[in-house]
Amino acid sequence: MQLTVGEISRVFDLQIRCENCMRESERRIAVPDIDDAPDSVDELIESNFLANLRFCCPRCESAIGRLVGAWRRRG
Ligand SMILES: [Zn+2]
Repeated sequence: MQLTVGEISRVFDLQIRCENCMRESERRIAVPDIDDAPDSVDELIESNFLANLRFCCPRCESAIGRLVGAWRRRG
């Protein structure tokens, strides 16, 4: 994922558990600064932004993951 300074205003850290090997991994996503961009974790989860994310387990390469935690990154 590319980060471009000045165009990204919201960064979230996601914790995703692999449904296959049950290992958890973290993933950082950046949300573009657009009108209906999610501004909180709740809004992020309710939006369809996560539906477009592709998960690939770094350990077993399973494509099925479950979101177990999310945080908005400050600063
Ligand atoms: Zn896995």
